[in-house]
Amino acid sequence: MLTTDLPKLIATVFNIIQQHETEVAGLDQAIGDGDHVVNLQRGLATLTTQSSELTSLNWQQALQKIGMTLMSTMGGASGSLYGTLFISMAKGLDDNNTTLDLKTLSSIFDQGVAAMKKRGKSDIGEKTMLDTLIPVAEALNTAAQANEPLATILTTISEAALTGMASTEDMLATKGRASFLGERSRGHIDAGARSSQLMICAIVDYLA
Ligand code: ADP
Ligand code: MG
Repeated sequence: MLTTDLPKLIATVFNIIQQHETEVAGLDQAIGDGDHVVNLQRGLATLTTQSSELTSLNWQQALQKIGMTLMSTMGGASGSLYGTLFISMAKGLDDNNTTLDLKTLSSIFDQGVAAMKKRGKSDIGEKTMLDTLIPVAEALNTAAQANEPLATILTTISEAALTGMASTEDMLATKGRASFLGERSRGHIDAGARSSQLMICAIVDYLA
């Protein structure tokens, strides 16, 4: 993958969020404060304006810039967590990577998700976006190390994202605003788990 792929990737991700705007808003309204989709849209709209600038950067610079943009424009718990993800991914690269292969991507994504866990003081099973992202990071790592064909790897990632997202429905929320509801948080899919799954699956479809 090259940074010249970024404009199309950003557009793909923005598009899937626009298509599911009402649904994601509804999920955050049910057990949060309802702003999750607006936060995502603000971040993605800013990234869209930076699209062409990103193509002239190497991967370390581009991921760093994406992270800083999300951190400063998105707002919400999700903004600082996504900012942390990309900034930590950038830290795993040298300042000269013009291409990003699957093994490198899987290792820096793992590092990024670990930094999110620290930042959010959270882990799998707490009804957050990490219930999507942790299984995706694990699936990506296992598949990349086994040198499986790209098509198999992509399917495995999508399945991990969907299973992880769905697992949040019956969970008790112990992090984020939904945790204020206690037992009443059960029976709703977490907004951040759904939006991250949508974005991962859109990226997978793009790569396939
Ligand atoms: P806010 O909760 O500040 O309104 P958003 O609505 O943008 O921010 O994002 C809410 C989502 O962020 C939740 O659905 C959940 O997935 C995720 N989230 C919230 N707190 C945490 C945390 N401590 N760790 C991981 N994810 C979290
Ligand atoms: Mg919210």
